[in-house]
Parts: sequence; C-alpha cells; structure tokens
Amino acid sequence: MHVLLVEDEVELAQMLADGLRGEGMDVRVAHDGPRALEQAAATEFDVVVLDRDLPGISGDAVCRTLVRAGSPARILMLTAAGTVSDRVDGLALGADDYLSKPFAYVELVARIHALARRRGGSGSPTVLERHGVRLDVARRLAERDGRPLALTRRELGVLETLLLADGGIVTTRELLEQVWDPYLTPETTAVKVAVYQLRKKLGKPPLIETVPRFGYRL
Ligand code: CA
Repeated sequence: MHVLLVEDEVELAQMLADGLRGEGMDVRVAHDGPRALEQAAATEFDVVVLDRDLPGISGDAVCRTLVRAGSPARILMLTAAGTVSDRVDGLALGADDYLSKPFAYVELVARIHALARRRGGSGSPTVLERHGVRLDVARRLAERDGRPLALTRRELGVLETLLLADGGIVTTRELLEQVWDPYLTPETTAVKVAVYQLRKKLGKPPLIETVPRFGYRL
C-alpha cells in the first residue's frame, strides 16, 4: 500500500512514518504543501494522510487540488481542530475521512486500511440511469440531462447508492455503510453534508427526497 504522509511537524511525521512502515506500508513523507503536490503528481498513492495546517500551501488547498485533478488516492485529513464545522469543511473539500489531533495511532492505522480497501470498487453495473441522471460508475462520471456534474467521491457514492435503490428508500445507515465505513461509524452529519452538496450540484427540479427519520430516495 502506498501512503503519502503530509505533516509539517517533523518529529511527528517521522514517528508516524516509521510506525506505518512497520505495518508494511510504503510511506513517503512531505513536510509542506508544495512538496505534497509534487509527490502526489509523481506517484500514485492509495491514501494521502494530510495535515490541515501546513506551510506553503494549506492542507485544504492541497486537498482541493488533488480532488480536482482527479487523484484516485483517498484523502484522510488531520487537524488540530475537531469541531463539527471543521469536519464539515473538510468533508466538503472532498476529503474522504477526517481525524482530529491528538488521535490514537491505532485509529490512524485502522482508517488508512479502511480507506485503501474502499479505493476502486467492483461488482456494480457500469452505467446507472434514472430521471435524466446518468452515472458511469467505472469512470466516475455523472451528468444530469447531459450536463456534467463535478462530484466528490462521497457524492458519487451517495448518488450511486440512490440510483442502485431504483426509487427505493435508502437509509442514512445504509449510506454510511456503503459510502463511508461501517466500523469507523462517522456521524450522520457527514451523510447530511454529502446529500446537501449533491442536491446543490444536481440542481432543479429537486430529485432527492428526504424521508424523515429514515433516509433518502431518488
Ligand atoms: Ca501542522
């Protein structure tokens, strides 16, 4: 597994990198934003562990750049701040997961493994369509009435799950299991944020219906 660890606290970075290498991961380290982007452009990583507060280019900007460039790497953001609004910001930027400092090392390892497992995907039909929404699952391309939609991985995952349900109700729990990771049990806030963003990007007329206390339906 190829991991890019972006952390400007050199000792912490060294300690984490040593630990992850001990888990059998191939770890590269960058201590600032520009180096992180350079490394990410040069090598295909499975997971990028990205400190939010970085010199040069902020973690937020690095995250946004990677997502826009279509990087296949899963992004785990690290931050000193652990408030709900920070989490929401991070997820809205396109990070796949979020971990607040200080964190337990075992939790970091578990989350990296979980993200790497979810990279790629298989078993679903290649193209899903409903109500003018078309999703090419393999190529991760979505459009509505021929208009391309710029969706994050989470949003693509939510859309895919809704399309697969074929008009049926998808519960918030199912979305967490399908799109996030069951044993990380993130808050339902993450689902709400992703659905909110997805609705905005899908535009009008609205397609995603909220089914109170249950979930959503397309
Ligand atoms: Ca930092």
